[in-house]
Amino acid sequence: MNVHRTVAELRRALDPDRGSKRRIGFVPTMGALHEGHISLVEKAAEENDTVVVSIFVNPIQFAPGEDFNSYPRSEARDLELSSAAGATHLFAPEATEMYPPGFGTEVHVSGLTEVLCGAPEARGSGHFSGVTTVVCKLLNAVQPDRAYFGQKDAQQVAVVRRMVRDLNIPVEIRALPTVREADGLAMSSRNRYLSAEDRERALAIPQALEIARHSILDGRSISSAIESAVARLEEAAIAPEYLEARDPDTLAPVTEAGREPVMFAVAARVGQARLIDNTVVEAQRIPQEVSSR
Ligand code: AMP
Repeated sequence: MNVHRTVAELRRALDPDRGSKRRIGFVPTMGALHEGHISLVEKAAEENDTVVVSIFVNPIQFAPGEDFNSYPRSEARDLELSSAAGATHLFAPEATEMYPPGFGTEVHVSGLTEVLCGAPEARGSGHFSGVTTVVCKLLNAVQPDRAYFGQKDAQQVAVVRRMVRDLNIPVEIRALPTVREADGLAMSSRNRYLSAEDRERALAIPQALEIARHSILDGRSISSAIESAVARLEEAAIAPEYLEARDPDTLAPVTEAGREPVMFAVAARVGQARLIDNTVVEAQRIPQEVSSR
């Protein structure tokens, strides 16, 4: 495993692969790796000849008061885990390498970034500008054939796909399913902020999504599905920041279940952690006769 701290080093190391047309897969992360990240690395190793993992806790996607300083950092362990999963290069730059003095460019995707986690009362669209700016820079640094993202951050996937399409960035974006703990909680680096009691309460999040999913599959309306899901959260004393039905690609609100896939997305603070999760109900599984229940 080769560790690179600068874009120049990384590019030099990848030149021979590029010259011999070996496929480069790329997994961007903020480190503190868990099985969710590892599933991306394994898939990248399966589908490519060379796999680059980046670890960079990107300061510009955190708002003041968010957990930038306390975000877990565990590079030595991350290196071992990603190497065992098939990564060949680790790119772990310092913030000054990514944002040297005088840095003044922002990549902003409009529309998609203003809802859900990008709503002003949530993290705000500035969060996503931080994400798209760093992902654009990382894609330019690595120049991969394919880049791997988790469906857990469904809005991030939609926004990155839009950026890549709008800016003609020559990369295939692959989105992989959310990896969950045995009891259903989506794996997240932020789960370690949960006390034992909050960890138990947090289970209501995937349970609420399952309730919404089953409601739709039973032919109930979107509003009724959301109502039942929110009721499950309330039982666990969780007040969601949002729990909404959206089109998984355009993020447009879905008010009637029917011919289009519907994504239920939720964000909620549980103790010290802000958690997000989602589930997508495929269109062909939704009964076409939606009752008014
Ligand atoms: P992060 O380190 O949180 O920025 O995540 C890096 C990548 O891993 C993103 O594409 C995430 O969507 C993905 N990821 C995080 N958690 C999971 C999970 N539980 N299952 C699958 N992918 C995940």
